[in-house]
Amino acid sequence: MSDGFRGGVTTEESLDVTSMLEADGALDALQLSGGSSLMNPMYLFRGEAPIHEFAAVMPAPVRWGMRTPMGKRFLKEYEFHEAYFLDKALRFRERLSMPLMLLGGINRRDTMERAMAHGFDFVAMGRALLREPTLVNELIAGREAAGACIHCNRCMPTIYSGTRCVELEPLAHN
Ligand code: SF4
Repeated sequence: MSDGFRGGVTTEESLDVTSMLEADGALDALQLSGGSSLMNPMYLFRGEAPIHEFAAVMPAPVRWGMRTPMGKRFLKEYEFHEAYFLDKALRFRERLSMPLMLLGGINRRDTMERAMAHGFDFVAMGRALLREPTLVNELIAGREAAGACIHCNRCMPTIYSGTRCVELEPLAHN
């Protein structure tokens, strides 16, 4: 929906592109994401910025850079709140009639119901399922409690060694 940095793709540009994609007619649905993994990754993830964990898995020069103020500039912190892309995604829902997936900080059943009430067809979940792969089945079975992911984002650097939730690892491995 937008890259979240000066000079990146804007919401207005994305609205135009998605209108073209809808007119093209070849897609089944669109997933409404945001951010840029190279320029502003935390715009997508929100919550705590795992600077030390990223530094630990980087080669020496990058590791040192991550520990300077540059690290904080690369991994900015954005407040996490449930369904943080909803307001922006609603602009796409108003513009488009094709099926849309809401993404971003979805951990609770009432959030999914709110998304459906707003006209989204699907929700996409990442970290919530990394933390609890059984969450969807539990919600179907009637679970009311929110997902257990704490949005620490320490799973982000594990993309280099097998993506996983570090909260599930034995303490000795943390
Ligand atoms: S490490 Fe686990 S608890 Fe932390 S954000 Fe990732 S999935 Fe959630």
